[in-house]
Amino acid sequence: MRSLTPDQCRALQDWLGCLQRILQWEADHDFVNSRGRSGHFAEVLARGLAEAPLAPLRDDPTCGELRTGFSAYSTWPPRQRRHWVVRTRQWLHQQRLHIQGQPASPPPDQPPQGLQSPLTQVKGIGPRLAASLTDAGLRRMDDLLRHYPRDYIDYSRLLRIRGLRPGETVTVVGAVRRRHAFVSSRNPNLTVLELQLQDATGRLRVTRFYMGRRFTSPKWLQRQRRLFPPGATVAASGLVKAGPYGLSLQDPLLEVLNTGPVTPAASPSRRILPVYPPIEGVSAEGLRRAVQAVLPMACQQQDHLTAPWRQCFGVIPLAEAFRAIHQPPSPAALQAARHRLVFDEFLELQLRLLRRRQRQRVQAMADLTVAGASDLAAAFLALLPFQLTTAQERVLHQVRSDLQGTTPMGRLVQGDVGCGKTVVATIALLEVIAAGGQGALMAPTEVLAAQHYRKLCDWMVQLHVPVAMLTGSTPERQRQAVLRDLATGAVKLVVGTHALLEEPVMFLRLGLVVIDEQHRFGVHQRSRLLNKGEAPHLLTMTATPIPRTLALSIHGDLEVSQIDELPPGRQPVTTTILTPGEREQAYGAIRTAASRGERAYVILPLVDESDKLKLRSAVQEHQRLARTVFPHLHVALLHGRLTPGAKQEVLEAFVSGKAQVLVSTTVVEVGMDVPEATVMVVDHAERFGLAQLHQLRGRIGRGQAPSQCFLVSESRQAVARQRLEVLTRSQDGFEIAEMDLRFRGPGQVLGTRQSGLPDLALASLTSDGAVLEQARDAAKRLLNDDPQLHTVPQLRARLVAQSARQASASRLN
Ligand code: ADP
Ligand code: MG
Repeated sequence: MRSLTPDQCRALQDWLGCLQRILQWEADHDFVNSRGRSGHFAEVLARGLAEAPLAPLRDDPTCGELRTGFSAYSTWPPRQRRHWVVRTRQWLHQQRLHIQGQPASPPPDQPPQGLQSPLTQVKGIGPRLAASLTDAGLRRMDDLLRHYPRDYIDYSRLLRIRGLRPGETVTVVGAVRRRHAFVSSRNPNLTVLELQLQDATGRLRVTRFYMGRRFTSPKWLQRQRRLFPPGATVAASGLVKAGPYGLSLQDPLLEVLNTGPVTPAASPSRRILPVYPPIEGVSAEGLRRAVQAVLPMACQQQDHLTAPWRQCFGVIPLAEAFRAIHQPPSPAALQAARHRLVFDEFLELQLRLLRRRQRQRVQAMADLTVAGASDLAAAFLALLPFQLTTAQERVLHQVRSDLQGTTPMGRLVQGDVGCGKTVVATIALLEVIAAGGQGALMAPTEVLAAQHYRKLCDWMVQLHVPVAMLTGSTPERQRQAVLRDLATGAVKLVVGTHALLEEPVMFLRLGLVVIDEQHRFGVHQRSRLLNKGEAPHLLTMTATPIPRTLALSIHGDLEVSQIDELPPGRQPVTTTILTPGEREQAYGAIRTAASRGERAYVILPLVDESDKLKLRSAVQEHQRLARTVFPHLHVALLHGRLTPGAKQEVLEAFVSGKAQVLVSTTVVEVGMDVPEATVMVVDHAERFGLAQLHQLRGRIGRGQAPSQCFLVSESRQAVARQRLEVLTRSQDGFEIAEMDLRFRGPGQVLGTRQSGLPDLALASLTSDGAVLEQARDAAKRLLNDDPQLHTVPQLRARLVAQSARQASASRLN
């Protein structure tokens, strides 16, 4: 690019920064085409690219191609979306380097050596190739080695053209027989690229469409023809469609594997061909050659896990893994290679998390000795009209052994609504109280805190344990009394909301902090409460189970327990999916239930309570239901903007049965316990996550009568429907969370409240759960045997270098 004026430079930088932020956001949200203020991600990006501040950029063919891609983005599968986002980021990054006038150099504090040395020093990678790779962010040999194939084509198992069936999504590899790039005669804005692919069994037509003026230029058409020369081997992935001229693939992802024929037969070891994420300006062969060039160096590197450790963990040597991931001699070798590399990623992640915990735990416990099961806890158990479930017993055992340890407990208990987490937490609190400590139970809402308090009061009075409640609406005089009693130790157990975090709250001897619905709190709130004691124990609970892989990756500094069993005798909830036109069916069920003296929830998708517009729609919907649909019933409205007093009034009306229908936003999600409620209708169910819907559904089916849940969904998308169908089949929160993870990806499942998803190149939180467990055990063993990691100095160095690199990378983008 020619030299720019400072103004142009600034405009360009602003533009780049803005787009890079949007892309980052989309990547953080797992490529869901997130909706922002000015529209969906893909629209905003297409518009943004079109508004490049300089004409040469706007006319850049790559820029044009990227824009077109974004017009189809919403119809693509996640993988293709990711690919496109990565390409766009790479291209923008390149533009930024242009204005900076020089490629970014590696951080100076790392002397280049071995795999750290720049690619320019590799024999077989010329300056031009090195420059293209550098533009794409691959600067050092290490980067190239970890530019893993995104797929493999196994020639022994490839789909043959003759065997294709309409409706399948497939990858086929064939030679280009003919290619044709032309502007449609009917629409001067539409460009068509048509390839005819051929393999040993038949021919297939492949068509891609490009909308927009810039694709009609002869230069662009020429470029496409050059990209797919006859004889080139191309992999095409997409949906097979049947048409009047036979089968075709429409708008598939195309990948040129080779500009000539690929001859896997020539060398038996090349039966499995790696397919790399493409890099601008580098041909597929060029990229494969570059990787080949660094492989010998990789094989000379020392493994950061010594042979005894490798044997202990059951992984193959690193050099072997690098060779086999890039040049798999067999599917089994590829699998072993992948296992080693995934294991390494998880091992580093877990080591980081566990080392953080190690640092937090150097403080010794306050002198509070829990000796085992106390009389107090035994007296409590005797009060319960039921036996603990096996799952409760198991988790209680884990909690007790934590409490008896010399370092503070840090444990997360996950379990479905109603599985009896509170009972387990209460026993833990009693053990600490019996040992002379105080306990605090914090809940995210007043409703939930009040409910806990009521229940605990019943028990604690009989056990002679003084208990108090503290929330934002506690009257001042009472508040002063509670504060005093906590400070003197007169109160042993306090239940409350965020109000517990406030400055004047002080304990004489805080021994255990229990946090209910922990996902509603931030990490800093957790530590604020913990800091009110001298290294107290921590027990967090959640009824929105997240899959264990996610829990271990994010809460790796906590131990995770699961109560995966409901107490016996629960009524199952039947779940039905309705279209908006079938709503009357749900209303009928509500009328029938009300006539039996039962109650119903109608849930509206007001996720963000601050949205005034939607709040108005909730109010309107309430009026509609009250006036036209249920004129003979009392319909109450609950939302997050009500004052605590008004909220309490609404709830009391519903609990007492004065109101039979409760129209509510998701504030009922946690805490409501009304056994008479037997019907729930969720509007716009497709907007909720499965785990959240499951938790909402947990509000019914709490009494003796059978319950019904209706999910009203407007979405016509098959995937949206499939997702909801999981709920009609399953009542198991963990299974549902796993499915949610599969459908929506980790970022969506966690939502915006929790972040900190690890950056993994190869490992998948969806499918590599077993390796993650293995790596976590391995990390624990390593740290146990060798807390400072002296026996694995390279691994230690990698951990240190990695955090340094992460810091510098975040500065770059
Ligand atoms: P969670 O907090 O996990 O949603 P709770 O601890 O509030 O669940 O328990 C839900 C209900 O089930 C409570 O009324 C509780 O008394 C009851 N409960 C807990 N454990 C058992 C059990 N083992 N058998 C029967 N009922 C139980
Ligand atoms: Mg609970």
